Amino acid sequence: PFEVLVVGGGPAGAAAAIYAARKGIRTGVAAERFGGQVLDTMDIENFISVSRTEGPKLASALEAHVKDYDVEIMNLQKAAKLIPARTEGGYHEIVLENGASLKGRTVILSTGARWRQMGVPGEDEYKNKGVAYCPHCDGPLFKGKRVAVIGGGNSGVEAAIDLAGIVAHVTLIEYDSQLRADAVLQRKLASLPNVKIITSALTTKVDGNGEKVTGLSYKDRNHGTEHDVELEGIFVQIGLVPNTEWLKDAIALSPRGEIEIDARGETSQPGIFAAGDCTTVPYKQIVIAMGAGSTAALSAFDYLIRLPAV
Ligand code: FAD
Repeated sequence: PFEVLVVGGGPAGAAAAIYAARKGIRTGVAAERFGGQVLDTMDIENFISVSRTEGPKLASALEAHVKDYDVEIMNLQKAAKLIPARTEGGYHEIVLENGASLKGRTVILSTGARWRQMGVPGEDEYKNKGVAYCPHCDGPLFKGKRVAVIGGGNSGVEAAIDLAGIVAHVTLIEYDSQLRADAVLQRKLASLPNVKIITSALTTKVDGNGEKVTGLSYKDRNHGTEHDVELEGIFVQIGLVPNTEWLKDAIALSPRGEIEIDARGETSQPGIFAAGDCTTVPYKQIVIAMGAGSTAALSAFDYLIRLPAV
């Protein structure tokens, strides 16, 4: 059994493991895919103190740094169930999909999130070649170009406002007959000269020239007509889904399925902490996830040293 058992091996989990191991306590990390979302990222330009790096490079640096310490890495292990300890200071159990189980006196959940995809032809093919999901990350790559934002909720409208200051033109495409974002955001969006809003529109495909995105097609849901838009980038903003389905019965989740944490990273169950994109933390970014993972590990250590000696 572990003193600190980390579930998830992205930036949050790696930071948590390093901070825990540096306290000299028995630490393990179980991850479905060590590296997490970073593995799916091309250029990273906001990892502070590193002007520019690539996702796979950062992912292998994360793993190498964790391996500097005495941490047991269990890669390709998917957690399926969390059974919290019955008594304070007892072991929490993580049941893996393969039936095996792991025990930790504290657990740090850092299972991240995934962007909801449109599921249209061309989306997968042109991912990182014009199809993007994170305006904070990839917005500057489209400086002076034309982009679309798919989705008229708060994140889509925020993305459109953000991008309008960087790119030449933004087309916002919403499936519904009206935008769902807060009124103040909608007013701000409507005031921008280089934004066009199209409602009742279903995106049907991503067009490209084999190398990068050249446009998209959508269907006008009122008239059934098909339209093409020429552009260089598409930001898909139809939801970020936390990887927490397996935790529903064990700990408190927000209505969006995010793990509820306090400022120390503690969940609704004593001794179980969480960090990164799977939690209610406001912004989902690498440096933020790393900071949160470090916080969770220090809180887990604090919890352990206060337990009565066993
Ligand atoms: P993740 O990175 O999502 O890691 C989650 C970990 O948990 C993975 O190891 C996963 O396999 C594992 N896991 C999930 N479910 C289970 C389970 N049931 N059992 C066991 N393990 C499980 N951020 C930036 O700061 N800059 C950027 O330039 C940037 N670009 C991005 C580009 C793309 C295409 C994407 C998708 C994201 C980008 N982000 C960027 C966001 C950034 O990647 C995330 O904020 C960050 O990776 C979150 O870290 P995390 O550790 O919380 O979660």
